[in-house]
Amino acid sequence: MNNADHNPPDPKEDPKGESKGDPMSVAFAEARAAAARGEVPVGAAIVKDGRVVASAGNRPRELRDPSAHAEMLAIRLACEALDDERLSGCDLYVTLEPCTMCAGAISFARIRRIYYAAHDPKGGAVDNGVHFFDQPTCHHAPEVYGGIRESEAATLLKEFFEGRR
Ligand SMILES: [Zn+2]
Repeated sequence: MNNADHNPPDPKEDPKGESKGDPMSVAFAEARAAAARGEVPVGAAIVKDGRVVASAGNRPRELRDPSAHAEMLAIRLACEALDDERLSGCDLYVTLEPCTMCAGAISFARIRRIYYAAHDPKGGAVDNGVHFFDQPTCHHAPEVYGGIRESEAATLLKEFFEGRR
């Protein structure tokens, strides 16, 4: 079950009261939780048939694992939840444009659509960098919708990095 559909938002976890169970808000809540753990604030949620089946935030520092990006963890959790190595028909919501590694995993997972918030000119691989899904060696390309709640995601990242100086 998707608890977000049934529980009122927790004001402590959700200071802006935005989480109503819509997947991008779930991703933003994961990003804020990541920031609170000292991780770069990126969060992701995976939806199947209108239901959030998995969500995760960045955990590379905590797990000592450079592959523990929000998207990677959410994909693993969704595969586990759906008992499948492919996520056909699933959509991924993420607060930052995916990097090359995550774009590769998204392709292998056969994710149907991705919705992301902030563009990432330095590390993105979808609409920046290698344009992974446009390459002939990419065998499954999702539909891509970027720039959703972009300023909110950009502010979250900016505040995080300013706070670390
Ligand atoms: Zn990544």
